[in-house]
Amino acid sequence: AIPLVVAINTSLAARNGMLIRDRIAMERARDLDTIVFDKTGTLTAGEQGVVDVATVDRVDEDEALALAAAVESDSEHMIAQAMREAAADRGLKPPNVSDFEALKGRGVRATVDGGALYVGGPNLLSYLEAEVPPELAEFADRSGENARTVVYLVREGKRDGDSSAQANTVVGADQEPGIDQARPIAAFALADVIREESYRVVDALHDLGIEVAMLTGDSEDVAVAVADELGIETVFAEVLPEDKDEKVTELQDQDKLVAMVGDGVNDAPALTRADVGIAIGSGTDVAVQSADIVLVQNNPMDVARLVKLSRASYRKMQ
Ligand code: ADP
Ligand code: MG
Repeated sequence: AIPLVVAINTSLAARNGMLIRDRIAMERARDLDTIVFDKTGTLTAGEQGVVDVATVDRVDEDEALALAAAVESDSEHMIAQAMREAAADRGLKPPNVSDFEALKGRGVRATVDGGALYVGGPNLLSYLEAEVPPELAEFADRSGENARTVVYLVREGKRDGDSSAQANTVVGADQEPGIDQARPIAAFALADVIREESYRVVDALHDLGIEVAMLTGDSEDVAVAVADELGIETVFAEVLPEDKDEKVTELQDQDKLVAMVGDGVNDAPALTRADVGIAIGSGTDVAVQSADIVLVQNNPMDVARLVKLSRASYRKMQ
């Protein structure tokens, strides 16, 4: 039989929009040392909009946006949605693409007019070993300071076996022939908003004596800007999806009892790894299935309520 206290607890939890998938985890929540939050879509609304564009090699801004939207045409990522909307808002018609490929935690790749193009963030640039032209680097610095996410449109470098004409057909055809490095030709700044409840939950968790950390695939400067704004002390940035759970382990190795809060497919391994995995909001199915507790309402404050409820309920059982 289910102990009475637990029964009370789960129905109380349900009334507060908390689905308890693992009761032991709910009990553990009272002893948490650190709570790690995913950034995009969890602490921020995740509804991004393109607010600025920069280009090099005399590439036209509208052309860059149309190409980027085309490369993003098959992606479900929130960034992809924002790029397509921005192109549509400017009345641009994205060209046809083929060979679409999603690069998890990095970006996307597609073939346009016979040439390969990529759209993605800092993780994509290191993957392609692409060097950022100074004009775009400056743009990215400025955007990062303002907590704006930057993604790049990158033309693939010429590889062995490519005909020399091929790699340069799409844009920047006036480039010197023989360049074989991937070249970022445009950058886009996307603005997201921090949720009101995120400010409150960080304060509430600090009051409960819990340390707060942020885990994101976004760039270091954006992550730090958001963390500073919220008063979050620990930041893990530019983390690939497959490495997110390692960050949780790092904290656990410091003898900490760790919860992870996330909404995305990318967060699933970290949710599983954490002592308490918490999926938030509408969350993807994968996130929900990897979580111990599901916060049905899309409200980060429920994380603090959950800890309080755990402390109030399980104190009685000792
Ligand atoms: P987060 O960890 O913030 O939830 P993701 O792991 O989904 O974010 O993505 C990490 C980074 O990878 C993004 O900030 C972006 O730079 C890049 N990225 C991923 N998917 C895309 C895409 N479809 N278009 C552009 N960039 C992308
Ligand atoms: Mg997310």
